Amino acid sequence: MRFSLKLLLLSIIVMALAFGFSGFYLVNYVFETSLVREVEQALDENSILRFAFETAALNVPAKYDMLQDGSIEQIAVNLENSGQSTGRMLRISDEEKVFLYASEGFDADGEQLARTDEQTKTYRIIRLGERYYIQTGSILRALDRVLYLETLRDVSEVFEERTLGFGVYRRVTVLMLVLGTLVMYLIASWLTKPIRLLTKATKQMAAGDYGYRAKKVSSDELGQLTLDFNRMAEALEENVGKLEDELQAREDFIGAFAHELKTPLTSIIGYADMLRSRKLDEEKSILSANYIYTEGRRLESMSIRLLDIMVAKHGTPEFLQVPAENLFLYVKEMFKTNEEMDFEYRYDADTIFVESDLIITVLINLLDNACKASEPGSRIEVLGKKEQEGYRFTVKDEGVGIAPEEVKKITKAFYMVDKSRSRSRNGAGLGLALCAEILALHESRLEIDSTPGKGTAMSFLIRKGGEA
Ligand code: ADP
Repeated sequence: MRFSLKLLLLSIIVMALAFGFSGFYLVNYVFETSLVREVEQALDENSILRFAFETAALNVPAKYDMLQDGSIEQIAVNLENSGQSTGRMLRISDEEKVFLYASEGFDADGEQLARTDEQTKTYRIIRLGERYYIQTGSILRALDRVLYLETLRDVSEVFEERTLGFGVYRRVTVLMLVLGTLVMYLIASWLTKPIRLLTKATKQMAAGDYGYRAKKVSSDELGQLTLDFNRMAEALEENVGKLEDELQAREDFIGAFAHELKTPLTSIIGYADMLRSRKLDEEKSILSANYIYTEGRRLESMSIRLLDIMVAKHGTPEFLQVPAENLFLYVKEMFKTNEEMDFEYRYDADTIFVESDLIITVLINLLDNACKASEPGSRIEVLGKKEQEGYRFTVKDEGVGIAPEEVKKITKAFYMVDKSRSRSRNGAGLGLALCAEILALHESRLEIDSTPGKGTAMSFLIRKGGEA
């Protein structure tokens, strides 16, 4: 069941109970107080009649010192017809509680009479036909006789008013319920609007629209929930975006990998087939074996690089404080045999917090690329500079440079600007991808500044850290 419907039903139930009980209580209260008033008046009337009867009895000439039944009846008739109240009803009974006189319509049984004795002045409420009465009873003494006086007071009006009151209240309750339902419906749908909007947003997101946000329409707890939901949606969208990018990168990687594998393998299989199926002269045999060898070496270096990338991605590096100079000296020693280039090393003395083997791998790759891109005799600078935020390594060459549109792509695995040129130099487009992974481990990244035809500067910053 919908939340707004539940809210509506509950409030209708509460309203119905509240109106029902309060109406019943109110009407009944009015009825009870009216009835108490009527009872008091009935008892008073009984007292007045009793007094009047006793007084009248004193004035009757008594035969044999006794009040005759006929005189009693006469006094009763006189009392019934006198006074302002029309329709006064009374009944007189003798000592044996035998009825002596009863007004017309006084059809009540003798139960009330049986309960009446010297001490008590009693009453009861009875129903005769369609009408309600208060019946009172008392004892009276006239001369030597002890008589019983009963009166009937018509209180049907009080009962009718109660029935009328209930009827009016029932109609008012129904009307209030209809109006209340209408108002509560509006309130419930206003209160649950944020929930409806949130539900819509979840549905949109479930259908793949991660950019959809729920509209905030209130500033209460539900408004806060909407804000939190949108924040969660943002994080979700970001993560889904990252996952999609990663998936795309993985697909690109596999595609490029398959392609890079196919090229050397095609050559190897082709030349090997030629060697085994034909008798070649010595020169051609050597040439074929040479192709197989160089392509095999290329495959080997590619698999080593790939392995390095995997290690850099998933390995746990051991960072140590090392003098930056050590790294420069190592690289300098490695490239000492390369006399084709004019290497220049300039660096500030400082300690850096790195895994030195990994950073040396980066430097070697950058220097290798600089050599490949440069003409023999060109200058290649290897620089180390202390900066406010850390220590910056730069490898700068005067080689072919990289076109601006290529700059973003060259750190992707298997990406080569000039494929045939790279392959001929044992490249597979994996060097810079490896550098990027290693630098990511050091919370750094490769910054490339290149002008085609003029040269390239590749640098990265190792942030201060590990002192504590
Ligand atoms: P490779 O194994 O082919 O060298 P890398 O990932 O190291 O692969 O480099 C990717 C591509 O970036 C290279 O094919 C090359 O075209 C280009 N590149 C890298 N460094 C330089 C540089 N210093 N100058 C010009 N081009 C470069």
